[in-house]
Amino acid sequence: MQFSVQVVAVDAAGAERIREVAVIGRDTRQLETLGLSLAEGKAILRSLQTLVVEQQVADHLERERRCPACGKARRRKGTHPLHFRTAFGTQTLTSPRLHHCPCQGHQQRTFSPLAARLPERTSPELTYLATKWASLASYGLTTKLLRDVLPLDEGVQPEMVRRQVQRVAARIDGEVACLRCGSQAVRKAGLDRKGAHAYRCWDCRRCFTARSTTPFADYRFLPAIIALAVRWYWRYRLSCNRQGDRGSDDLLVI
Ligand SMILES: [Zn+2]
Ligand SMILES: [Zn+2]
Repeated sequence: MQFSVQVVAVDAAGAERIREVAVIGRDTRQLETLGLSLAEGKAILRSLQTLVVEQQVADHLERERRCPACGKARRRKGTHPLHFRTAFGTQTLTSPRLHHCPCQGHQQRTFSPLAARLPERTSPELTYLATKWASLASYGLTTKLLRDVLPLDEGVQPEMVRRQVQRVAARIDGEVACLRCGSQAVRKAGLDRKGAHAYRCWDCRRCFTARSTTPFADYRFLPAIIALAVRWYWRYRLSCNRQGDRGSDDLLVI
């Protein structure tokens, strides 16, 4: 028996387009291959993602082709490939560069509408998954885990996961708000006596650190050491006392 997985794309005018995503063959007399395999599931997800992304990008670029002010078609200067990593595979898109319409004043003569709309080349969901797993396991293990369950390609490497985590950490650092009154008018105030970054709020005048209102507020250990102890607990099932024996060689992979 054969199963054909098809996608029906319906545009705003109601026109339908059918595209085949996968064909799955099954011998119904044998139940050893009951249901989809992981590889088939990943292949279907990847093909479906490519199809949806292609259509969304084509629609977006069609709208960008004309000047919104006068309706004239913008001249095309060339194209370049744009790689966009998603949880269901990396999509290689053709990103055009267009000339601005002379009817309006612009600082630059050309622009890339797709590159401007996708300043981050990784989808928020893949960033979320990579960051979440990297907080529990090493970057290498995170990459393996993600590749096992998602149709990711060779482009997703431990180094990419590390960069994602650093980017998210930098963004969180830049978005510090006062933990007491919620004001964003805060400035860095050096380190507290436990070595954590301290902040002072301009509005309520109080000082705080990132963990002031967390259950770890009164711990004398750094958050990195607490996180390491938690990871070892889950990985090796060690008691608190034995975790002290393991040295600090693994600190950098948190
Ligand atoms: Zn124009
Ligand atoms: Zn405050």
